[in-house]
Amino acid sequence: MSTECIRCLLNDKIPGVQIGPDDICSVCKQHDERWGDWEQRKVERVSALERMFDDCRRKRRAYDVLVPLSGGKDSTYVLYLCRKRFNLRCLAVTWDNGFLTDHARDNIKNAVDTLGVDHIYYGVNRQLLMRLYRFFFLRTGMFCPVCMRGIGVATEMAASAFNVPLVVNGTSERTEEHVAPEFFQTGPLDFFKNILKGDPLEIEASALMYRGDWKRVVSYHLFWWTKIERVFSSAVICLPDYVHWDYDEVFRRITTDLGWKAHRADAEHTDCEVENIVQYMRQRKFPALTPELLRFSKLVTAGLMDRDEALAKVSERGDAIREPGNMDWFLGALGLSEAEFEEVLRDPLRHMKYRSEPGWLWRACRAAKRAIVNPLLRARN
Ligand SMILES: [Zn+2]
Repeated sequence: MSTECIRCLLNDKIPGVQIGPDDICSVCKQHDERWGDWEQRKVERVSALERMFDDCRRKRRAYDVLVPLSGGKDSTYVLYLCRKRFNLRCLAVTWDNGFLTDHARDNIKNAVDTLGVDHIYYGVNRQLLMRLYRFFFLRTGMFCPVCMRGIGVATEMAASAFNVPLVVNGTSERTEEHVAPEFFQTGPLDFFKNILKGDPLEIEASALMYRGDWKRVVSYHLFWWTKIERVFSSAVICLPDYVHWDYDEVFRRITTDLGWKAHRADAEHTDCEVENIVQYMRQRKFPALTPELLRFSKLVTAGLMDRDEALAKVSERGDAIREPGNMDWFLGALGLSEAEFEEVLRDPLRHMKYRSEPGWLWRACRAAKRAIVNPLLRARN
């Protein structure tokens, strides 16, 4: 049996990847199960989306949709589509993670000004933010969960304050690269709390502990469902689950129509100053995770790039581990010594013990949805 997928670029040294007896990896298989019939379903998906947008318009609220805007390509394109193609009343919200590049700020300003969209910046003070990043890094070897928590809180607070029925995201399993809990962790509240437990930061960071308006939380789990796709109360969707997502087209639209500029021509996450540090840390922990391997591999799995072209792009960068040029600046910002940084990298799985299983409320909602709501809806349709 091979150790490498014959279809994409992944291998079994990457956490979460298993190669089957047919030499196809688990990531490719999951993609096919969920999205393999995308070409046949494309038209029907857009109709489902239009039904949801109609539901939102009918509610006659101040805004039809809320778009979390990072300044990167995908979220900018989401805002563009919602405003220009679907003519929705949009509110955009940006979580300022303290590492937002000037490029991202310019891109955000250009997009909201050009599209005439109301926009909110949300953030906590920089000192607290950097202390949180430091604390999280030392405890878990990761600091992204703090930022991910901020995105969630900013989005939920804005959606709740303005009673926006639908949150529209630009990331989707269909287009996003493979992630596994061993090397990627979002910022769920329980995880966040488990890490801060007993530290003075637990009180100081309480602005980031917002769980969300309970009516919305229940609604996300109960009153919205993928089969019927109506927005009865409030919902969260990922736009690439519904519309064609061609990265060349995304790039063309946002650059020509919204004046979006890339930091580097090939850069993916130009919205974050420390994206390269995250990549570097990942590769130090798991040497098989060479730069951009996951991104190009996903394009192959999704049929958007051929394997040889992707292989060429990945090998162009090589698999040598290169320390980023902004490393000293980063260590300074978090108040870390080189020795502390190195020590943390020695145990790549130190974050795992803080993860919790889904809570009772979540499990109860899912069970209720399966047992009561779904059959009722099926009967109604
Ligand atoms: Zn594969």
